[in-house]
Order: sequence, then structure tokens, then C-alpha cells
Amino acid sequence: MNMALQIRQEGNEQRFINLKESIEDYTHIKGEIKTGIEDSERIEYQKKKILRELNGSEKDWKNYKWQLQNRFTKVEDIAEFLRFSGSERDEIKAVGKRYRYAISPYYMSLIDPENNMCPIKRQSIPSISELDDKGELDPMDEASWTPEELITRRYPDRLIIKVTNLCGMYCRFCQRRRLIGERDTHVPKDKLENAVEYVRANKEIRDVLITGGDAFLLDNETIEWLLSELRSIKHVEIIRLGTRTPVTLPQRITGDTELTRILKKYHPLYVNTHFNSPMEITNESKEACEILADAGIPLGNQMVLLNGVNNNKYVVRKLNQSLLKIRVKPYYIFHPKTVKGTSHFWVNFEEGVAIMESLRGRTSGMAIPTYIVNGPKGLGKTPILPNYLLYLGSEKAAFRNWEGKYFEIENKV
Ligand code: SF4
Repeated sequence: MNMALQIRQEGNEQRFINLKESIEDYTHIKGEIKTGIEDSERIEYQKKKILRELNGSEKDWKNYKWQLQNRFTKVEDIAEFLRFSGSERDEIKAVGKRYRYAISPYYMSLIDPENNMCPIKRQSIPSISELDDKGELDPMDEASWTPEELITRRYPDRLIIKVTNLCGMYCRFCQRRRLIGERDTHVPKDKLENAVEYVRANKEIRDVLITGGDAFLLDNETIEWLLSELRSIKHVEIIRLGTRTPVTLPQRITGDTELTRILKKYHPLYVNTHFNSPMEITNESKEACEILADAGIPLGNQMVLLNGVNNNKYVVRKLNQSLLKIRVKPYYIFHPKTVKGTSHFWVNFEEGVAIMESLRGRTSGMAIPTYIVNGPKGLGKTPILPNYLLYLGSEKAAFRNWEGKYFEIENKV
């Protein structure tokens, strides 16, 4: 072998050793960060226990209406499955008077009662920290960006319609907790009609996001009516639905094939969902996402960065890689909003930027969402990136790559 080739090959070998080493930490730790699929035996055990307690059957479990009717709304019932101290019970009762809670039996089955730091428990069981008054009820000032009841419009070509306050589970970090109220209420039809008329009258609107609460908790008839109305408007190019049911109530999709049959009639249609923890990726949530994907609906995930749930670079990498395996594209990571009653979930920007830095290069671009901060009072989604562009001049631009290596490229056409 000639000397130059031998040196080059030795260089390549070292190069591949370096690549392997750059993810060695994650390779070792990823087995310890379990998905719900990897922890399915424990979840199945909890499910059986819950079914016994509720006197329900396997058939009931698959019925989303049964899941909704049997949501856990009393601390005494939850205490059958989780260990609470006397003070914890009192705290949950105190928080419940201000912010209601309701947890589907399915989501309850994901909680690990042995783990006090369980990310599922943290998202669903009230914490005394919610009584901390830091923050605002409506930091995004949605109320001022409402040209018509139910509509929030912050951008020129798109808007959202909030169609219900109902959710499979009331997330403890919810940005719209002010709208959750004391009772489950769907929006009256005449208000929905007015919202549709607003879209019809504003020809620049090409993208409509139906959300809530949870858009999939409208009944099928109303979903069909709303989609057909919006589809009849020529300038509406795409329709998106925001739902956390694949995460908190997958039976809405797996147990009701009619819903998917309706959705697939109104393409191009997109679904944004909201997984925050690898533990939320279960056999049932996988089935729900696959049913939607098989119906030709692209799925995107909007994770919220939450202290004690996913503010860890390995957890986020595992979540994003696992989402791709169930055909969901990681779309956004939202910096938490300063919503009153959620301050125990807040993280600082350094943590978010470090997580983004840890993803780039170490996993495929498909597994890297955009990290977003929402500007206060409706200033809109603003991306946050680690800085890769070090210099931009008329002659050249200078960069660093994911490994911190410096390079320059001529800035000429
Ligand atoms: S599903 Fe969405 S709207 Fe409903 S409580 Fe959770 S975060 Fe809020």
C-alpha cells in the first residue's frame, strides 16, 4: 500500500472512532430511559389494577367515552394507585379548588407509583407549587388577539379556532388553564358558525388550526361539519388539528374508526400532537399514531420543555428518536410560557439551548425540532438556535460545526 493511502486510511479509522465516541454517553444511558413500550409489563399491571377498581372490562378500556366518564377527579380514588402522604392529599385538595384535575384511566396506568419523580405523575397530579402566584393567567394575551369569539389570530395568513375546553387529561402545565373552567363544555354551534364565517370573509387565511382544549374531543358529527365547512372555503389550503389524545386518550382514535374515516376525506390535513416524555410512547399510543399515519395524515409533535419532565438532553433525544419510530416528526420544542400556577415547570434558556446543541450532529435532522420561545403579549413564535454562524461579511462567512470545528466559505454567488 502506498504511504499516502495508508495515512489517509488511518485518519479515516480515527475519524470513525471519534464519531462513535461522540455518542457513547447516550448509547450507555438510553436503555435506562424507558419508553412506555419498553415498560409495557408494568403499565399492563397497573391497567389491570385500575380496571378491577373501576369494575371495567377490556372492552370498556378501548372505549374512549368510558375513559372520559371514568377520569380520576378525586384524590381518594387516585390514592388507591399512588402512595400519598397525609399532607399530599390535603395539598391536592387545596390545588383542586383553584385548578381542576381529571386523569383518564389510561394515562393513570402510565404513572409509576414507585417513582416519586415520575414524569407522568408530574404532568397529571396537582402539586402544591401550583398555588405559587408567579406568572400570568394569559401571558400570550390571547384575549387581545381575538377578532371573533373562539379565534386567535396573530399572523397574516393563519389562525386558530378553539372549539372545546374538554381534554382527556388536564395537564398541570397547560397554557390555556384559564379556559379549562369547572365543567366540560363544547362551544355552541352558532359560535362555531361565526368563526367559520370569519375565515370565509378573510381571503388571506390559508391555514386553519382547530384546537381547544382538545380538537379530537369534539363529537364526530361536529368534526365532520366543521371540516366540510372549512374545506368548502376556496382560500383555505390546509387544515390542522391540535390534539393530545394520542398521548392521554389514544382510544379516541383506536376505538373509533369513524373518526379517521372522516378525517381522511378532508386532506390536506395535518395533526399536531404533544408527547413530552418517552414513557408516553406506549403500544396504544403507537397504534393511534399509526392509524392516523396510514390515513395519510402527517403527524408533528410539539413538546413543551418542562422542568422535571424532559429538561434533560438524553430524555429529549430518546423521545425524538422514539417518535420517529411511531411515525411522528418532532416539530417544535416550546420554551415554557410563564403561565400562573406553572412556575415549578419553568426552565432557563441555557438549558434549552444546551439540549438543542446536544442534538445537532448526534442524531438525524429528522429528530431535531425547532426550539421556540413565544414572544410575550402576542409577539409570536421566535426560534432559538445555538449560534453556528460566527461571522458574515461581504467576502466570506465563518461557521462552527456541531463538533465545534471552525470553517469559512466564500460569500459569493
Ligand atoms: S391537552 Fe392541551 S389544552 Fe388540554 S390540558 Fe393538556 S395542554 Fe392544556
